[in-house]
Amino acid sequence: MTYSRTRIFSTAILTSALTIGGALQIFGQAGSPRDVVERAAAALGGRERLLAIRTLTIEGYGQLAYQNGGGNVTSSPDAPQKWINVNEYSRVIQLEPLRTRVRQRQVNDFVFAAVSGMRGTTSTQALDGDIAFNIGANGNAGRAGAAAVRTRRMEALAHPVAIVRTALRPSSRLSNRRSEGTRDLVDITIAEGDTLTLAVERGTSLPAWVSWVGPDANLGDVVYRAAFTGYGPVGGILMPSGLNTTIDFRNIVQHKLHVDRQAVDASTDDLAAPPALQATGARGAGRGATAPAAAGQAAGGRAGAAPPPPAPAVNATELAKGIWYLTGSGNSTLFEFADHLTLFEAYGSEANARAMFARARALVPGKPLTEVIVSHHHFDHTGGLRAAVAEGLTIIAQRGNEAFLREVTSRPAKLFPDALGAKPTPIRLKLVDDHLQLKDASMQVDIYRVVANSHMADGLLAYVPRDRLLVQGDLFDASWEIYWWGSSYADNVRHRKLQVERDVPVHGRVLPYAEVQQAIERQIANAEKLCASVADAGLSMRGCPVKRTVID
Ligand SMILES: [Zn+2]
Repeated sequence: MTYSRTRIFSTAILTSALTIGGALQIFGQAGSPRDVVERAAAALGGRERLLAIRTLTIEGYGQLAYQNGGGNVTSSPDAPQKWINVNEYSRVIQLEPLRTRVRQRQVNDFVFAAVSGMRGTTSTQALDGDIAFNIGANGNAGRAGAAAVRTRRMEALAHPVAIVRTALRPSSRLSNRRSEGTRDLVDITIAEGDTLTLAVERGTSLPAWVSWVGPDANLGDVVYRAAFTGYGPVGGILMPSGLNTTIDFRNIVQHKLHVDRQAVDASTDDLAAPPALQATGARGAGRGATAPAAAGQAAGGRAGAAPPPPAPAVNATELAKGIWYLTGSGNSTLFEFADHLTLFEAYGSEANARAMFARARALVPGKPLTEVIVSHHHFDHTGGLRAAVAEGLTIIAQRGNEAFLREVTSRPAKLFPDALGAKPTPIRLKLVDDHLQLKDASMQVDIYRVVANSHMADGLLAYVPRDRLLVQGDLFDASWEIYWWGSSYADNVRHRKLQVERDVPVHGRVLPYAEVQQAIERQIANAEKLCASVADAGLSMRGCPVKRTVID
């Protein structure tokens, strides 16, 4: 539709709209929200062609920002980003009703603890209406958590054809047309209640990007913006060859996709959820520490409201007088001082952290919980940070994380409220440079900066001299298959002249130090074996050859 024809057309509509209420909603006018969508539909190949499409197939490869940018060696915005390579990517989108299936192989482009992460893990994730499910290698489907429903719906709509086609539905409400530079923006509220913003380039009328908000345990509300470039003809419509999703946390590129094949109405598998799944309920949802997803719990233009997940069970084991090991989804260690309690780590999620806080208070009812020590800044380890700040707890952290801690705890959570979103609270910080001793008549805990560790440069460990306990996050985990931090653990023990008897980890279980050393040796040998197998295949892998020391 040309500009002048649009104008004539809409003038006529404007006249009749005086008597026919709602006509504007149906047919649009130049400058109306619907006009923006209609122009985009015309540019993509025409309204009728779009409405006739059943499925899109998009294949390629890309990268994913590990932990949404929260898994790097430090929390600095200048720290090099760790990527997960996305290989063998294939997405099928059925447009009406909306169903989608993504198959991909994710390979760490950085070293970590599972062989499968280094070799790559193939997964198939699907969505059919309000049923999210995963398909295993054996072809069996299992229902995914309620949080996955919304995340997968948003990600399926992060494609120009999918979002414009959805916007054309009579059930979609269009509003708030505005301009931003060379683009026209319009909000699209879909039948499920979610609102997305579509930006259309004025010169070409092609969609430039679509954005939406999602919840994050560390970041509160996160704005995702999927940008589309490199449009070309496919099956009578235009499809982009580059898709790039950024988030409003440091403008990190959260997902990149390079398309190398795509098709319209290619024959595909049946995308419907297996009937057996339709009878089963979704597993408990929650704000995952690393996943950019959680169930919507609040009203206000969003869908997918799900019951809050049950509080994680926390077991407590007394390790020594006034010291308890709290095991949940990620473990914390509780120290009883003369007049207060201090917790090492608020791991995983708001739900896990709150369960830990509650257990701590129940163990020692007479003393307030006042402090949380953060081992390091990785997003799984800071998943309970916002909850801790909302409760007014003082955060003890290595100084290198100060700006990061202030940044993430001052982000809003309005659309997806969490504890801190509901009660914005300034963070109280106690910063550690190299050593901080917490000591009173009841307890002494020495907090040291972690040295010689390639996983974290601004981390902390805690040591209890009386009981010779070393409390740590990610220095060692008995369940790791492979170990890449060389002699980091022993280096820290030697550097601080500690007499460690037992290791008290955030991940894993309490072990005698001698067993830790043996396990690390086994894990290093496994890493060496993995590197050898990769070299035998004529390939290379991050971290190979394995380093026995991190610093000399
Ligand atoms: Zn970590």
